[in-house]
Amino acid sequence: MTQSIIVIGAGLAGLSAATALKNANCHLTMLEAAPQAGGKVKSWISEKDDTYIEEGAQFINTDMTQMVKLATSAGLSIVQTGSKPDGISIAAPEQAPISDELFDHEDELDDIVITRKEEDIPLSSLYNRLDITKDEQQLISSMYGELINVNPQLVSAAGFLSIHKRFASMQDDTTHQVAGPLSHLVGHLLKQLPTVHFSEPARSIFSDEKGVTVQTDKQEYQADGVVIAVPPAVASKLTYSSNLVSHFKQALDSYINGSIIKITWEYETPFWEELKGRDEVIHMAEATFTTPQGISVQDTSARGINNRLTMFIGADLAEELATKKEDDVVRIAEEWLKEAVGERAFTYSRRHVSTWVNDPLCGGGYGAAVRYGSMIAPYELLREPYARTVFASSELTKEFAHHMEGALRAGKYAATSLLSFLKKKG
Ligand SMILES: Cc1cc2nc3c(=O)[nH]c(=O)nc-3n(C[C@H](O)[C@H](O)[C@H](O)COP(=O)(O)OP(=O)(O)OC[C@H]3O[C@@H](n4cnc5c(N)ncnc54)[C@H](O)[C@@H]3O)c2cc1C
Repeated sequence: MTQSIIVIGAGLAGLSAATALKNANCHLTMLEAAPQAGGKVKSWISEKDDTYIEEGAQFINTDMTQMVKLATSAGLSIVQTGSKPDGISIAAPEQAPISDELFDHEDELDDIVITRKEEDIPLSSLYNRLDITKDEQQLISSMYGELINVNPQLVSAAGFLSIHKRFASMQDDTTHQVAGPLSHLVGHLLKQLPTVHFSEPARSIFSDEKGVTVQTDKQEYQADGVVIAVPPAVASKLTYSSNLVSHFKQALDSYINGSIIKITWEYETPFWEELKGRDEVIHMAEATFTTPQGISVQDTSARGINNRLTMFIGADLAEELATKKEDDVVRIAEEWLKEAVGERAFTYSRRHVSTWVNDPLCGGGYGAAVRYGSMIAPYELLREPYARTVFASSELTKEFAHHMEGALRAGKYAATSLLSFLKKKG
């Protein structure tokens, strides 16, 4: 029997779920609140030349097999990130090289196990459990502030550790990128799917023994099942039938949206290959700020294609800056950039700012974090079908949470598990 399924959200998780459902011969209805697909995958493409800048997601590594496969099938190759392979990480504004040993301490996180709510602590207290100095704690605190995009005092350490443990690779997550706009991958997925109802947000979802009903401002849709491919803190704002509320609502409410501002500068030459460090000439690949915290600057060049530095400003600092005019944000950010790489910071040929703060549709930040004091593993509940309904988003995946790869895997998992759930129902 052909199953009819509604997919809500056309970010990577929704597109991946829809692709799997279409391949299983389901009848699909796709609803997307925005006028375009992609969600946090959004490429700015120049109208004058073929330059593009990723406003949202950008990097992958070669263990992210679904992303590599998608890029290949869309006819795009993968290139390395960074102007050269031998760059080092520094702490700014001191310009002190960060020793590899600090990154080794991250392995200690694998040994910390928090399985009960009573054992949970705020992420900000987790640093105390690592065998590191006060200065290193400050550095780690800054790194996590940028990485998680939420004030570490509000974030569950258990939730953070689970993201760390679900990162199914020994490689760094920024080693590679696609040699072309990621929006082309979105377009490639869309080509194989039925027409999406754009600018049509789902408002309410009702489920009973007979099926599901999804209401938008324009129409009511009925189907056998629904995949809600919307980030959890955004999905918590939708209206649900009482059975769905009692099963899912506490888990949805366990998430807080992140905040990130991404600023990319393009240069004629990668001058950060020869920076005057404290004692010697260094090649900077990445700088983490200790004051203020929650900022990093990375060599984000697509090797052989462009020379770029990108600043990521996370959490409270991003929220504060998001209240200012873009010109003021840039002025402040460029002063920080100068602290990291010197006066040549101002010699850029192009600059692009994107702000992901309190985004009503995508949530903001790389992904939503689990709130300290809430459910300990809400992702485990949300990714399993109940009453013909299942959630999918990068936060919920078993592998590569908070990454594009995770969104693709979450979508596929949701589609497959919903179909087997419906099959059992008969
Ligand atoms: C600045 C930035 C940098 C990042 N960098 C990287 C990176 O380098 N590498 C990496 O792997 N990942 C990165 N990420 C994370 C990555 O973008 C996400 O993990 C992934 O794209 C999330 O996909 P998703 O489908 O789960 O959610 P989303 O992309 O948020 O998609 C959700 C979709 O649901 C839609 N929607 C919301 N509400 C409704 C509704 N009521 N009805 C219908 N539709 C609705 C939204 O409009 C959106 O299209 C970055 C993210 C940001 C913001």
